[in-house]
Amino acid sequence: MTVVIVSTGGTIASTEDDGEDGAAPELTAENLIASVPELGDVASLRTRDFSNVPSAYFEIEQMAELASEIEAYDADEEVDGVVVTQGTDVLEESAYFVDCWYDGETPVVFTGAMRNPSLPSPDGPANLLASVRTAADESAEERGALVCFNDRIHAAADVTKTNSMNVDTFRSPEVGPLGAIDEDRVVWFRERASRPPALDPDPDRITNDVHAVTVTADMPIAQIEAAADAEALCFAATGAGHIPPSIIEPLESVAGNGVPLIATTRCPEGRLARHTYGFRGSEETLRKLDCYFASENVQKTRIETIVALAADSLDVVFERP
Ligand code: ASP
Repeated sequence: MTVVIVSTGGTIASTEDDGEDGAAPELTAENLIASVPELGDVASLRTRDFSNVPSAYFEIEQMAELASEIEAYDADEEVDGVVVTQGTDVLEESAYFVDCWYDGETPVVFTGAMRNPSLPSPDGPANLLASVRTAADESAEERGALVCFNDRIHAAADVTKTNSMNVDTFRSPEVGPLGAIDEDRVVWFRERASRPPALDPDPDRITNDVHAVTVTADMPIAQIEAAADAEALCFAATGAGHIPPSIIEPLESVAGNGVPLIATTRCPEGRLARHTYGFRGSEETLRKLDCYFASENVQKTRIETIVALAADSLDVVFERP
């Protein structure tokens, strides 16, 4: 069994050694595996230092490069699994980007840490060990991108970071994890709901110019107008798909410029209604605006939109009820 550890930075790779006041990413993939001797009993390891940045520095282009590298590992018969270590802040976005892009068999597991190695009880080593166990397990094949954290395994499509500081931060609201690591065993609770449709994105068409806005009470309409020339506008409506009447016209005007509108809910659980309410600003209005209806949170809806645009496949990926 050979697992590649792709290191990108984040807390798991952070130390306070560089004379700065707080921790910053410094450690290489070799440093990470050196701190977990048990890894040698699970798989032989290859390492790749992809980047060493706080995850908030990660760019969409890098997500696409990461996804292409993972495709190359999938084509390499000597590689049985891939573990990507990353900062937790945007980890759900990178993992979901790979999920939307990659349709190979080789398990891909994202992980990180909430406590850096200089703090008491850092969680990185245990997360890395659990992730390598998962990536080396044949039962993880063809499950899409996974996130393994705090001994639980989540589908990238379901998971979100729920706590800014606690080690038990990754949760899959409403549906729960796909599985867990019990001692040295990978235990599955359920299949993932469904894998996103296999797309054929053109790397040259990847753009970060997809806006994402959370709808709030009496929000400034300038937040919508700012998307006038964007490639797309994703917005998280309140509740089951409701917006203040003041933003309907700005949305019409943005859509009139040819900017696709993709709506989701800002609630951590549930999806948009289709035909429960009919007031002006309800889901009925979203339908009249010809919005695509998405089911992920707004940050992952944006990722799905970016990949779908690069594959010319908005109609394949999202419903327009
Ligand atoms: N707090 C973050 C982490 O957990 C920092 C980052 O996302 O890079 O790694």
